[in-house]
Amino acid sequence: MATATEPATLTHWIGGRSDPRPAERHHEVTESATGEVVARVPLAGPEVVDEAVTAATAAAREWGESSLATRTKVLFAFREQMHARRDELAKIVTREHGKVLADAAGEVQRGLEVVEFACGLGHLLKGEMSAQVSGGVDSYSLRQPLGVVAGITPFNFPVMVPMWMVPVALACGNAFVLKPSEQDPSASLLMAGMLAEAGLPDGVFSVVHGDRVAVDAILGHPGIAAVSFVGSTPIARHVYETGTAHGKRVQALGGAKNHAVVLPDADLDLAADALVSAGYGSAGQRCMAVSVAVCVGDVAEPLLAAVRERIAALRVGDGTEAGTDMGPLVSDRHRAKVAGLVDAGAGEGAELLVDGRGLEVAGHEGGHFLGPTLFDRVRPGMAVYDEEIFGPVLVVVRTESYDEALTLVNESPYGNGAAIFTNDGGAARAFEHDVSAGMVGINVPIPVPMAYHSFGGWKGSLFGDLHVHGPDGVRFYTRNKVVTRRWPDPSQRGVDLGFPTSR
Ligand code: NAD
Repeated sequence: MATATEPATLTHWIGGRSDPRPAERHHEVTESATGEVVARVPLAGPEVVDEAVTAATAAAREWGESSLATRTKVLFAFREQMHARRDELAKIVTREHGKVLADAAGEVQRGLEVVEFACGLGHLLKGEMSAQVSGGVDSYSLRQPLGVVAGITPFNFPVMVPMWMVPVALACGNAFVLKPSEQDPSASLLMAGMLAEAGLPDGVFSVVHGDRVAVDAILGHPGIAAVSFVGSTPIARHVYETGTAHGKRVQALGGAKNHAVVLPDADLDLAADALVSAGYGSAGQRCMAVSVAVCVGDVAEPLLAAVRERIAALRVGDGTEAGTDMGPLVSDRHRAKVAGLVDAGAGEGAELLVDGRGLEVAGHEGGHFLGPTLFDRVRPGMAVYDEEIFGPVLVVVRTESYDEALTLVNESPYGNGAAIFTNDGGAARAFEHDVSAGMVGINVPIPVPMAYHSFGGWKGSLFGDLHVHGPDGVRFYTRNKVVTRRWPDPSQRGVDLGFPTSR
């Protein structure tokens, strides 16, 4: 166990066990609420990635050919493990990430729901059949696993985002190499142990820790057929371009700047609750956080009053303590970046209504805290509008009309989520149809789809064609094969050099 003076040394997980080899490079993992170093995580070089891929390749064939019943049994057992140890997982997330325990428990629950979806995956692997496409000829399709696939995940959901990928890929019959965020890597090791306990054969799931060196080794490795990535837009673009240049199937989910449009007829209490919850939950470190409120017509004054009232009631502190609404940011570096953007916003003429930069949490002077921050009269061209802040900063843009608001949302280079608050069904329907975003909320601020739908954005929020989990996840982790079959029938013999057509 780590103490203040002795951080734990984490290991990779390869071939079904921890891999205790000494590493040349490490990253120091901090407890976000105190700033204390709690673990040292090894940063893999290409040779470690290669060993994980070799173990995965050796295991992939047998796993891919195992019966659906066998795979389902392992996933059910994994589901039981995760369910039984969900509090332990949530505590690890809170410690390293900083989000409050209830939020961490919610993340574990949403990850579990994808495991549960994967337990029933046989339903989506059935393929399609057309009888008698020609005389005595049938045609049918099969979906087969890809082999070894990899996942590269961000710091902000160290349980849920790996679970968007791993259970679906395994249920489809693939072996999986996970490269979690080096900032909060411990949860991935706990889940690796649970998969082993659940009966997953050695090598089918590995965890390789690392930074860009490990990522680039994954992208260039010929033994990896596909890569799922979730993280910021510049890295997502790099992963997509490099991975596809190496002939891999890639889905790379990027950053976001999610807008919530509030129309004058909206229920303003509901809208204010939603903006504060989705703007400051997890200290704004969610890809589906609302970071821009677009106030249409005369809605800004009453809405801002309601938002400020709610911000004043928020309790910021250590996420493990009962009653805390918002925890710290993940690292000191990230805190400095967010504070720098708040400086920029104030310098560019945005109206700083609530300033969280000076916040101090007694007894946690080394923690990475920054209080809820609110800007009014923000415009495109200001850094606080153009950049993804990924912190507890909500910016308000005022527009004259719905059309102006829609244009603003659609001109954003991001397109993850977008929401509208209104009681007008026609306006909501027009928004749902016209908005350029992959996930839309109507009086719902964070429209994260359930496990049996797929999650993904548009524009700079996703590079690739398929979203994660749900039906798209199954398509991503399998390839289609179409069989055309007939049984010999003497009446159909004879050479015919014409192009085959149905008869
Ligand atoms: P990040 O892009 O810094 O890191 C993501 C992963 O890439 C990590 O595993 C990291 O080790 C690796 N990485 C970092 N720098 C790299 C480099 N130069 N080359 C190769 N790999 C590199 O993202 P983050 O800070 O961990 O997470 C926050 C970001 O993720 C935000 O932009 C957020 O919007 C985004 N995100 C998006 C979604 C989504 O569904 N679209 C979900 C969660 C988070």
